[in-house]
Parts: sequence; C-alpha cells; structure tokens
Amino acid sequence: MKDKNQNKKSSINPNAAEQFLRKKKKKRSQEEWLKGIQDGNTVVLSQAITLIESTLPTHQFTAKDLMRACLPLSGNSIRIGITGTPGVGKSTFIEALGQLVLAQGKKLAVLPVDPSSQTTGGSILGDKTRMEKLAANPDVFIRPSPARDSLGGVAQKTRENILLCEAAGYEVIFVETVGVGQSEIHVHSMVDFFLLILQPAAGDELQGIKRGVMELADLIAVNKADGALTKAAKQAKQTYKNALHLFPAKASGWTPTALTCSAIENEGLEKIWETINDFIYTTKNNNYFKKRRKEQAIFWFREGLLSGLKSLLYDNKKIQEAISNLEQAILEDKISPLMASRQVINLIKNNL
Ligand code: GDP
Repeated sequence: MKDKNQNKKSSINPNAAEQFLRKKKKKRSQEEWLKGIQDGNTVVLSQAITLIESTLPTHQFTAKDLMRACLPLSGNSIRIGITGTPGVGKSTFIEALGQLVLAQGKKLAVLPVDPSSQTTGGSILGDKTRMEKLAANPDVFIRPSPARDSLGGVAQKTRENILLCEAAGYEVIFVETVGVGQSEIHVHSMVDFFLLILQPAAGDELQGIKRGVMELADLIAVNKADGALTKAAKQAKQTYKNALHLFPAKASGWTPTALTCSAIENEGLEKIWETINDFIYTTKNNNYFKKRRKEQAIFWFREGLLSGLKSLLYDNKKIQEAISNLEQAILEDKISPLMASRQVINLIKNNL
C-alpha cells in the first residue's frame, strides 16, 4: 500500500526521494537505508517497514542489520495504545488528539494494527478516508500493519515499526487497535500508556466490554459526550470510574481513571492529553517507565522466538509430514495427543 504522506515531508528534497525509490531495494546500502530513516524521509521509512514485514529470507537479512543500526536511535518517544470497538470514534479521536500533539511541535506516527487482513492493502483501518487531516500533515506518518503474519504471530512487526519510527524522529506514537480478539493485549505489551475509548451505551454500561481489556486501561475515555448523549456519557464515566477502582493496584503506581470527551466537538481532549503526560511524568519519576520497556523487550524477544520456532517447525517437510500423520492417528484414536506431541518433539530433537 502506498502511504498517504509519502513525499510530503517538506524537509525532503523530492528529487532525492525519487532517486532513492528508483534504486532497487536490495541494492541499497545499509548506510543509505539508515540515512534515509534518520533524515525522516517517509518514503524510505515506509520501504523499511515493508522490508521488516517481508518474509523473504534476503529481506530478513537486510532487515536484521537495519534494525540493529536503528536500535540505538530508538526509544525516544511516548508510545500510546488506543483501543475501542469499531464505531466508537477512534479515528475521529486520533485526528483530534493528534492536533494537540502537533501543536506542541511534535512529530506523530499512527500505527493501526489491522485485524481484518494479513496484508496492509484494502483493509478497514487502511481506509484512506480515515484521519484525513493527519494524513495530509507532513509531520504525521500513518502506516497500518497486519494484526497477524502468515504464521499467526500477533502484531510483532508493529513493535519493530515503532522502533523504526522512533529512529526517524517521531516523538509520539499512537498504536491503534480494534477492541476485538487478542490484538489489544499484544498492543498493551508494546506501549507505555493504554487508552480505552468507550461510548455511552443504553442500559448496562458494562455490557459487552471485556473485563480483561478494562483492566489493561490506564485511562478510559467516554467519547461522544455531546448533544443528547452528554448526560449518558457522564453517567457512563462514573460507572467506569467505579469499576476501575475494583481492580487491583497497578505496578505503575498509577490509578486509572475515566474521563468524558467529544472528539467531534473537540471537547475534553486537552484533559486527556494532560492525563497522558501526567502518567508519563509519574512513571518516569518512579522508574516504572524504563523498567516496563525492558520487560516488554524481553516479552517480544520471547514472542519472536516462539513464532520463529513455529516457522522452523512448519517449514520442515519431514516434521510437517509427521505432524499430519500423527493428526490422522489421533483422529483414529491410535495415539493420544500427548504421546503424539512427544513423538514430534523427539523427531525435532533428533534433527537438531
Ligand atoms: P472508529 O470506527 O472507532 O474509528 O470510529 P469513527 O471515528 O470512524 O467514528 C464512528 C462514527 O462516530 C462516525 O459517524 C463519527 O462521526 C461518530 N463520532 C466520532 N466521534 C464522535 C463524537 O465525539 N461525538 C459524536 N456524536 N459522534 C462521534
């Protein structure tokens, strides 16, 4: 997919960007990749992300070196996870909150994790009509990434994309996820602050919201607090606030709270941005910020290891064959699942 803001960065010489594009990716030296990223060239950044997402072995080789080079340049951002069910107002909210970030002279990257597709093209979150104002701003980079790679690794590459964006000088990163399935748990593991957007609902406010997702939230924003919904939004805020108090205290030392806002009328966004900054201030002061980032890095290392092992397993013909034979045997009650799995493990051991 072509990025909406390609070539818009005013500090980039468009001819240089074109020359860069014309060069075949594999012929680009590591220095050229790195310089392009460091210069904040969105064309290069975008291609680097494609490279990281690629499963081709040659690309993976370059990607590894590139990530290693970018790592020392990364880390200097605030990573904010934003989740909510479709229709709750996420893109409207991100447009509005994004303006506050930009008003502070900061560069913003928006990385939606798209559960609807394995590729970035033609997906809900990749829809070009979303976040139009941000997409047209040269200080904003928007890049959806697939929720799963072909082997079911969840959002792992989004984390690498965060690091690349940081190396490219983006100071605030929004990782957006639709509040369905597993992706929000993984997004929570790659951000500093986790924001849950809800809307006032008729009747039981807590209906349909997974307890687990609420427990992850550092802040709940009840959006659409405008017009006829204003009163219901205030009530919902109170209900959520009370519900948040029932969860155990967080290791961050932060007490999650709930606020109302109207993304459409631009109300309450400043308070939300202030709250996020308070959180960052608090957790940097009590050292949780650093500690958690380190824990997250280990978490993603382990996730990467597991998915790498999975691909080793499924790329191996002999093992694959054994697995399908054993599955058949399990279906025919010829072997128990546990014994069958042990047999595969032994096969792997013997092939190491
Ligand atoms: P997303 O699917 O979560 O990204 O939600 P959208 O941002 O696309 O918004 C879904 C719908 O809710 C759209 O029709 C928006 O105009 C509407 N919406 C978003 N924010 C607000 C708000 O603050 N107030 C009201 N009344 N409607 C809103």
